[in-house]
Amino acid sequence: MIERIFKTSEFAAPRSLYKILVKAMEELGELAQEVAIKTGDCDKPVGKDGIIGEAIDAIICLVDLMKVHKPDITIDEINQIVAAKLAKWESQEIKADKELVSRWSKLIGGVPPVGSTYIKQDKDDSVHTTDGGPNT
Ligand SMILES: [Mg+2]
Repeated sequence: MIERIFKTSEFAAPRSLYKILVKAMEELGELAQEVAIKTGDCDKPVGKDGIIGEAIDAIICLVDLMKVHKPDITIDEINQIVAAKLAKWESQEIKADKELVSRWSKLIGGVPPVGSTYIKQDKDDSVHTTDGGPNT
């Protein structure tokens, strides 16, 4: 996918980083509208591209932005940055999971059910989860 976007980016007429960024923001606006339609927050009809098409429009703009900013960037370089970013995200998820288990253990005892993502203790000390755990 990235290689294909790079080829079109190299072929396209000269354009500024600013114009590419504005286009990316337009595409994110279109994506926001599609998500709002999906969640019922907007009563317009679904667009022809839908959430997937608008997300892809945004990805194309952002890859183009990288290529115009750094014409000699390689797919390997991007893959290395993606891997580092994903490793950071994954470590945050693991940390959050350990915090969830720790909180559950203190508030309820034992370990949370699979899929638990949130634990809240109310003023009256009742314990709630967002996902059907005890005392929801
Ligand atoms: Mg679009």
